Amino acid sequence: MTSHSSHAQKFDVRMRGFASRSTVKQTLEWIDHSLPSLQSESVPLEAAAGRVLAQSVVSEVNVPGFSRGMMDGFAVRAEDTLGATPYSQIALEVIGQSLPGEAFEGQVLPGQAVRIMTGAPIPTGADAVLQAEYVEIRSSKIVTQTAVAPRKHVGQPGEDIAAGATVLTAPRTLRPQDIGVLSSIGVAAVEAVQMPRVHVVTTGSELLPAGSKPQGYNITDANSPMLLSLIRRDGGLATHAGIIPDDPQQILKALMADVDIVVVSGGSSVGQEDHVPMLLAEHGELNIHGVAMRPSSPIGMGRLGKRLVFLLPGNPVSCLCGYDFFVGRAVRLLGGLGRDWPYRKRSYRLQRKLISMVGRVDYARVLLVDGEIEPIATSGASVLSSTTRADGFVVVPEDSEGYAEGSQVDVFLYD
Ligand code: AMP
Ligand code: MG
Repeated sequence: MTSHSSHAQKFDVRMRGFASRSTVKQTLEWIDHSLPSLQSESVPLEAAAGRVLAQSVVSEVNVPGFSRGMMDGFAVRAEDTLGATPYSQIALEVIGQSLPGEAFEGQVLPGQAVRIMTGAPIPTGADAVLQAEYVEIRSSKIVTQTAVAPRKHVGQPGEDIAAGATVLTAPRTLRPQDIGVLSSIGVAAVEAVQMPRVHVVTTGSELLPAGSKPQGYNITDANSPMLLSLIRRDGGLATHAGIIPDDPQQILKALMADVDIVVVSGGSSVGQEDHVPMLLAEHGELNIHGVAMRPSSPIGMGRLGKRLVFLLPGNPVSCLCGYDFFVGRAVRLLGGLGRDWPYRKRSYRLQRKLISMVGRVDYARVLLVDGEIEPIATSGASVLSSTTRADGFVVVPEDSEGYAEGSQVDVFLYD
């Protein structure tokens, strides 16, 4: 035996089975500890909605930046209107107008008023707005029957946003209205968490490209389009290597992509054509191989250079489950999002018992029927249609034998 082949054999786990499996908990801990620190980048406002703020934003300006009228009417000196009643009306002389963006440049002296529109600057000397509907216009004068208090209908500088105030706190996923606020305080770009670059490597010599008709002994790739959608949902920048045959050289090349996370579909187990675990062990680190869960137990993960690499089983149900449990968490965390699933959790009554084996976590797909749930009876992980028939899933913990008929269980809903 040459030294090279004995070296390769050291990493060869094929056909030996899994010596021991990691628990789901250990695996999640490995992910959390293996994630690199978040990177940020400057993102222009027009592309910032949906991005995660990396740095809180403090306003440098007051909004509004000047005293402004909050009603259409007349800017007056409040004291001039003191004592106005229907029996003792007060007349003021209108000396000009203030429009939004076009201030009245003069000064309002006692006995004077300036016509003002909502949003227009309050002229010097005035300190209140008399609403248009409360005054009578008589040629160049207005007559009021009511008094106004100082500051009435006057927006004060900084009343909306004060200079120095924290307007948005990191980490926050920016909403469209946040973008509006940022723009109004003169911010044109924000520091956002970099979206993780996630590369999908789909392996399997039997696979036909996504969307093509299955033919002969070939099957059509279901996992790539599913994984790409899941990654985008979780805030990742998804790319695809295309379909790679079960050939170590070609797979290794695809793994070397310049990305943060590589997700491999297929060939993750210990079969003769399952090259990926060995490749990872040889050229990087295979830190986890085999997890005590179902489906998706022949899953693996490790590092290759700076990349995190996830090896998902090719079986589409296992692939989805493995993504949901592990890859999605890594993508979300690396993008500054929470580790929580993007699924709503609700409690439902079980219509039939749900059996699970002690010693592994079960991802049990369930159907909603008349406001209750029933487990989807599938023999093994291979039923592709079960993923679309299911309304959600129940996670049965390792130490549980499942749940009796009639018990209340938490369901994660796909919609
Ligand atoms: P593997 O994990 O490569 O052993 O594949 C397990 C099973 O899933 C096999 O029946 C494969 O043909 C099937 N499979 C592998 N990759 C895909 C894929 N991308 N889409 C659909 N089925 C797949
Ligand atoms: Mg395969």
